[in-house]
Amino acid sequence: MKLVTYESAKELRVGVVEGDFVVDVEVALAMFAKGRVKDKKAASAAVGTLRKWGAPPADMIDLLARGAKYRAALSVITRGLADAISSKTKVKNLFTPLAKARLRAPITRPGKITCVGLNYADHAREQGITAPEIPTFFLKSVNTISGPGAKIVMPPNSTQVDYEAEFAVVIGKSGRRIPEERAYEHVAGYMNLNDVTARDMQHGDKQWFRGKSCDTFAPTGPWILTADEIADPHNLRISLTLNGQTMQDSNTSNLIHKVPFLISYLSQSLTWEPGDILTTGTPSGVGVFRKPPIFLNAGDTVSATVEGLGTLTNTVVGPS
Ligand code: ZN
Repeated sequence: MKLVTYESAKELRVGVVEGDFVVDVEVALAMFAKGRVKDKKAASAAVGTLRKWGAPPADMIDLLARGAKYRAALSVITRGLADAISSKTKVKNLFTPLAKARLRAPITRPGKITCVGLNYADHAREQGITAPEIPTFFLKSVNTISGPGAKIVMPPNSTQVDYEAEFAVVIGKSGRRIPEERAYEHVAGYMNLNDVTARDMQHGDKQWFRGKSCDTFAPTGPWILTADEIADPHNLRISLTLNGQTMQDSNTSNLIHKVPFLISYLSQSLTWEPGDILTTGTPSGVGVFRKPPIFLNAGDTVSATVEGLGTLTNTVVGPS
């Protein structure tokens, strides 16, 4: 199930991608309440779960927090309605062609964006250092969040803006002191994240906060793929192109610290909440370690792709 946040009539809406269309969740649930879903048998199985929750989800975090059972029930409804796309159902705002939907960051306001430095064996190698036994964690502040197609705005005080394709985990269930073997229960899904970084700030300051937290420095999306659709999170190709040229090309099998460990380890000291983002680090090929280094310039187009998660494309603009 692909979950999106998109803008329609100046409102942020939550949608489910079915084929080439986005199905509006609120409108779909209203159709369901009116008995307009085609697959009656499947829909009847979803009734109890959907009724229990009553009102439609207010936003993506609310939808994620309702859990896997709710999402499965919702999926029955959106799939049942998607069958009607071909018959050109004229319900207002029910379907938007995916190509025309104004997608925003799937989670527009996450509680936290938790990041891991140096978590790919190949990325540690390119810097000539041994990967740390205990991961280096840091935060990006939430002002960095942006969506597919959005501009990456270069700050006026940096000339070394760099890209980092990352495989990001989306938390769906709160929890603390989570044992590794139960970590996946807290994962709602996965998405692309570009951990854009001002290297001059990152390396000039004594820590990474400022260089990682410039406005627009966390493009995400285009959608959240729910966890049930990823058989093995540690076997996905991850790549990035800059103006069409491949700069990063690796696989999540190269992750040093795996998803369950990261969730569990951090949960010993913090509480995970629905909508939190845990991004797992970047593979080799970042601009700063190239010889000569390559940094982003106004007019550049950057695309990050993790297998199954679509492609996240953004363009770079100068300071504004
Ligand atoms: Zn990173």
